[in-house]
Amino acid sequence: MSEEKVTCNVCHAHCALSEGQTGRCMARWNNGGKIKAKNYGVITSLALDPIEKKPLARFFPGTRILSVGSYGCNLQCPFCQNYEISRSDGEAIHIQSETMSPEELCSLAAELKNNGRGNIGVAFTYNEPLVGWEFVRDTAKLVHAAGMKNVLVSNGNASQEILAEILPYIDAMNIDLKSFDGNCYKDYLKGDLDMVKAFISTASRAEHCDLEITSLIVPGHNDSPEEMRDLSSWIAALDDGRGIEIPLHITRYFPRYRESAPATDIALIHRLAAIAKENLHHVYIGNC
Ligand code: SF4
Repeated sequence: MSEEKVTCNVCHAHCALSEGQTGRCMARWNNGGKIKAKNYGVITSLALDPIEKKPLARFFPGTRILSVGSYGCNLQCPFCQNYEISRSDGEAIHIQSETMSPEELCSLAAELKNNGRGNIGVAFTYNEPLVGWEFVRDTAKLVHAAGMKNVLVSNGNASQEILAEILPYIDAMNIDLKSFDGNCYKDYLKGDLDMVKAFISTASRAEHCDLEITSLIVPGHNDSPEEMRDLSSWIAALDDGRGIEIPLHITRYFPRYRESAPATDIALIHRLAAIAKENLHHVYIGNC
């Protein structure tokens, strides 16, 4: 057995893992000297959702999409809305899971497209899909070959190398921009703002991929007018005269998991949306 540690290249955590050891996301491990996804094909959530629920406001509105989640996440948001699957190691969990191959998932998506249920493809969502990016890539290739669409809902804390692996197959993304303060990302969420900005910036240049962004407003952490002004102005600058007009979803937080602060004031969400509209054409509010 090799004693040498192997470093995972997926995210900012750069976990250096000994043989058999699992990374911070609880989904990737060192197996025989190679970093692999333990959660490959492990499905914890499966639903035919309205596309607006991803949220995507301007990508095939009025349709539905087969939405699939596994387990694991590389952030540690105290307010996680899906902590049962994101903070799970896939074994010590009290959730139902089943294994599906990319072929089985693609077949189900095609069935839901052809039987009049309005499905347009597959959305990789619920937990952080990119801690198991190999399953996203393998499934997305089949979904495209079958003439359907792929959607990615991600926290954007992934390297450019991993983004390049999946971007050719993704038709639309919703990426979280959870704060515009590097310290908030580092200390509160255990993430990396610069990595998220680079992810969003590269995705915004992919002409085949529609991009929308979501900011969940948590009282006392990312709710200042100045921060929203900076965040929305940065998103607007990504346009660079191309007219892509990236939509921003500003959503309301509710106490969950380890965060007990009261739910975000609805009036504050509206005030922040008004500020974002100074810079952006398409601003949506959610959870209000
Ligand atoms: S994806 Fe997981 S194992 Fe890889 S660096 Fe990030 S937290 Fe560590």
